[in-house]
Order: sequence, then C-alpha cells, then structure tokens
Amino acid sequence: MAIRKIITIGDETLRKVSKEVEVINKRTITLLDDMIQTLREAQGAGLAAPQVGVLKRIFVADCGQGLVEFINPVITEMSGEQDGPEGCLSVPDRPNDTVKRPMYVTVEAIDRNGKPFTMKASGLMARCICHETDHLDGILYIDKMNKPEVKK
Ligand code: ZN
Repeated sequence: MAIRKIITIGDETLRKVSKEVEVINKRTITLLDDMIQTLREAQGAGLAAPQVGVLKRIFVADCGQGLVEFINPVITEMSGEQDGPEGCLSVPDRPNDTVKRPMYVTVEAIDRNGKPFTMKASGLMARCICHETDHLDGILYIDKMNKPEVKK
C-alpha cells in the first residue's frame, strides 16, 4: 500500500469525466487500498479516484460508520434536503462552505469482489456520496455552493 498524492484545484484532471471500471484486476485492488490509506492519512470523509489522478469511477468513504468502497456508483434515488458545511481534500485552504444536498440517497455500486450492492444513506453519508459521485463527473462542491437566489 502507498499513500498517493492528492491533486488539487487547478489540475484539469479534476474536471474530467471518469470512465466506468470494466474489469476489477490487481491494479484496481491496489488503487482501492492506496485510496483507503490516503484517505486515512488525510483524515478525510471521502476520496474519489480522480483526486489521485486516476479517471475511474471509484470512491471510498468513511463518515464514522466504517469504510465503504464504491465501484461504478450510480445514485438511483434522492429525496429531502439538507444545508451543511462541506469541504474537499482537493480544495485546500478554504473554510467549509454551505452546500445544499439531498437528505436521503440510494446508491447502487459494486464492491471489490465484483458483487453489486445497494445502499440507502442519510445525512452526512448522503452528502458524502453526492460529493464523491460529483467528482466522477468532474464536478467540485464549489460549483454548488449556496448562492443568493437571483430573481428574474
Ligand atoms: Zn472532494
């Protein structure tokens, strides 16, 4: 296992759309293990593969209830609403900003053994899943920061 370098805003890799994982091989497992170690070292809640420069649809998340690995995640349901502080390991030196997210999400993904699973999450974990899934589409939370509404 190795700690990988977390790339930060300004690197255009963060703005690209990641590709689906077609085969889970040794490199995929090494990547997952490295991402877990990198997340723990950085004391973050979530880390997506593009943040370590790999454009694959993978993220790891730990919001205090144990680490979960997501390969090819798809959010299939969202409901409710929450406003809360959000930060990102790729956007350092910034106070956490308030971002609106769904309160509940359902996400489908596969694990490192290729086994599909469905997870229902709420609160912080729902926020984290939305934030990390956005990374896979080149979206950063700062794109979604609450702004004053402009009435036309
Ligand atoms: Zn992030």
